[in-house]
Amino acid sequence: MAGVTVHFHSGLSTSDPASSPVLVVGQPRHLARVAWQTIACKLQPRVAKELWTAGVSSLNPAPTDSVSLYMNLATVAALPVKVSRHNTTSRAHFLTKVVRSCSSGGPETVVIVCTRQDMYASGCAVAKAFSLYTRKTTGEALSAQPRPVRATEVRVEFLLVSGDEGLAEPAVLTTADIKCLDTSCAALQLTARLVDAPCNELNTTVFTQEAEAVARELGITPTIIRGEELRERGFGGLYGVGKAAEHPPALVVLSHTPATSKRAIAWVGKGIVYDTGGLSIKGKTAMPGMKRDCGGAAAVLGAFSVAVANGFSDTLHCILCLAENSVGPTATRPDDIHTLYSGKTVEINNTDAEGRLVLADGVAYAAKDLKCDVVLDMATLTGAQGISHGRYHAAHLSNSASWEDAVTRAGRSSGELSFPSVYCPELQFPEFTSAVADFKNSVADRNNGQPSCAGLFINANLGFDWAGVWMHVDMAAPSAVGERATGYGVCLLNSLFGSASRAAILQETSPSLDNGSLLDEAEQQGGRTKKARTE
Ligand SMILES: [Zn+2]
Repeated sequence: MAGVTVHFHSGLSTSDPASSPVLVVGQPRHLARVAWQTIACKLQPRVAKELWTAGVSSLNPAPTDSVSLYMNLATVAALPVKVSRHNTTSRAHFLTKVVRSCSSGGPETVVIVCTRQDMYASGCAVAKAFSLYTRKTTGEALSAQPRPVRATEVRVEFLLVSGDEGLAEPAVLTTADIKCLDTSCAALQLTARLVDAPCNELNTTVFTQEAEAVARELGITPTIIRGEELRERGFGGLYGVGKAAEHPPALVVLSHTPATSKRAIAWVGKGIVYDTGGLSIKGKTAMPGMKRDCGGAAAVLGAFSVAVANGFSDTLHCILCLAENSVGPTATRPDDIHTLYSGKTVEINNTDAEGRLVLADGVAYAAKDLKCDVVLDMATLTGAQGISHGRYHAAHLSNSASWEDAVTRAGRSSGELSFPSVYCPELQFPEFTSAVADFKNSVADRNNGQPSCAGLFINANLGFDWAGVWMHVDMAAPSAVGERATGYGVCLLNSLFGSASRAAILQETSPSLDNGSLLDEAEQQGGRTKKARTE
């Protein structure tokens, strides 16, 4: 798709701001370590040394600040001086804002001054400033035409600092580093585009075609189970949610099965292409924006493309649970009872609590059919997630303490933040008690840890004593800022599973490097030597 593409380059090239606009951005203490002779190649002959020095020393970020050095064609910008311990040291969210506000709108260069450790989160933050989806037009009414979308390259280069002193040096990036960063940015933009696209364009059939296109690029033949076949094969959750829509529900699976594999991992995404709430219909103010209820599926698809393109040593399955939660004569009613793929029966008491139903089938398929040891589901699951965790952090829960901690740390190193939610099935799962089925699909008390309860519903379809590692990431809030998708999830997943990647940058952002081999430890903790529930 035309539009802005973000490309990374090794070293610092020579360019003139008059023909190639440049933004230099970093923390003030890092910018102060950039020698004039290092940055002069990006600024001369338009900017002199004195102006650069004065510009950098005049920056007073609160939380950010920028100074123009040559019209709007050469700018230096500062990121916040301090961030707190639940934030990412990369200051990724501020970096995205600075790039968006300082962008010239055409081909340009962004020079990021940071540590090697923050390179991945910082580089990806640039792509988050450039959304691809638009249907804006140009010209007056009656003669309006689609606004032409120019193919534009944003070039990103790094100046790296290490330790507390010494000058910033141009980063030496390998071909593999560049591929890792380029593919991550392309995937972020793909994910954001799928989330931004409305349902009249992106129904389940078109989403499936998008997944097929990703699969083709990776040389993978996807498995697609859709429509009546879902019902016949026992996917009562996914079928029940999607059966009233014009376009049928689908389970789309992309599988990467290398010979080196030591474990099987599944990333399962909630792909509700539109959520009216079903017969428990949403109100006129609650429904707009529900095109974004496919954020989890879009994220796991984007993340999978990055993981496979850069080399991934373990088996990895991307499972998309695609459905439109629509209203019609065949819609699921409250009181209906469905049998989920796990074999468990669910009494529907709220057709708007549909995400957990489609994911229940997705995770059960990962465990039963694909024999996965590690199952992670990602979803825009609850509105309560943003109330408890705010706009920037996802909420995650896991049956494994070490993986729970790993998700938090991967969030900070990737710039896509997440923070744990309470994991306590014995206290919370009774919320779903049903008189006539194994459980209901919606809680009795909405004030009792809703994001945790919703996740536990999914966990219940693996069983609370399941021997594998289960993780759930509710990213309802961070998947969009205002009315634009962020691509959230792509970086988090690739950082979390970076130890299985061949890309050095992903290995370095992986939480496993801090505490030895996380994967082996977690495998034990997941239940083979210890019951998950007792953690
Ligand atoms: Zn819903």
